[in-house]
Amino acid sequence: MALPRFKQSDINGIRSRVERAQRIVITCHKAPDGDAIGSCLALMSLFRRMGKVADVVTPDMPLRALMFAPGANQIIVNSVNEKAVRQLLQKADLIFCLDFNSLHRVDKMAEALAEAPAFKVMVDHHIGPERFCDITLSEPERSSTCELLYHVIGALGYHRFISREVAQCLFLGMMTDTGNFTYGSEDPEIYIVVADLLSYDIDKAYIYNMALNTFSADSLRLRGYALNSKMEIYPEKGVAAIFLSQEELDEYRYKKGDLEGLVNKPLCIPEVTMSFMFREDSTAGLIKVSTRSQGDRSVEEICREHFGGGGHKNASGGDFHGTLDEAKAEFLKILSNL
Ligand code: 5GP
Ligand code: MN
Repeated sequence: MALPRFKQSDINGIRSRVERAQRIVITCHKAPDGDAIGSCLALMSLFRRMGKVADVVTPDMPLRALMFAPGANQIIVNSVNEKAVRQLLQKADLIFCLDFNSLHRVDKMAEALAEAPAFKVMVDHHIGPERFCDITLSEPERSSTCELLYHVIGALGYHRFISREVAQCLFLGMMTDTGNFTYGSEDPEIYIVVADLLSYDIDKAYIYNMALNTFSADSLRLRGYALNSKMEIYPEKGVAAIFLSQEELDEYRYKKGDLEGLVNKPLCIPEVTMSFMFREDSTAGLIKVSTRSQGDRSVEEICREHFGGGGHKNASGGDFHGTLDEAKAEFLKILSNL
């Protein structure tokens, strides 16, 4: 793939807004993952090095495993401090929307974000961006928003402001969104970016261990239980599914993030090329759906059509409104059509 050629008018538009900006706010989707947090904190560090006032606001708490990222303790969280987030959004003159393509992905922050008078820029790699920003840089073929953001930073002429912290954050997003460079990372150019980021003396093994290889005992036991007792396999369809009720989650003192990435595991089985996980969330009053697939099989359409969600061809999510039993009935319907 050739290096991205952004529209020069977009790049000029962003650069002139950054130069004039007094207050920049950077935000991402709810339940922020490594790519969301990595891209937000990378841009925050970069702008601060440029002498700008820049803050990161998120709809809710990032996964605990990401709190090691440089600057993570300075994130202002909407579900914890709604008033502060609203004020920052209102007063901002420039807002960056990173790693999400639709207003509803910021959950309860959507209204405050939509009402904010600032100039808005989206940098994202999810399929089908909605047009709620003044400038939209969307490249679904990119491994991660962090990879795309690296090229945006270069195109803006800000590469010289990349520091070790910025490099750590960009690497974090690229690494987590590709499962440590397993999937979605075939493009050779990705490794040119990685090579540059590594030249900032970042500790690659440390970032991997903190972000992808740290689990609580409860989380490990819950994962064991889910794979041992709850994984259903439909070999004739090449499908696996895990259903977990709130009661089961409570038994393992489930905390947000404890099941992160588990949906990938059934894909270890050679005959499984599509994996579903349904997790009851009685606080939110819904069933969270997480899906993964391999090759040409798309889970994006399934999540869009059945669960009001989306994402990528091989990794998508959504919500089901109803009971876990009803979600299972919906899943069996989907299965019968595969
Ligand atoms: P995960 O299964 O790890 O929660 O999410 C996998 C992918 O699906 C991510 O790229 C994420 O952005 C997307 N995704 C997860 N949940 C939703 C959702 O409710 N709506 C949409 N549009 N995308 C989602
Ligand atoms: Mn991403």
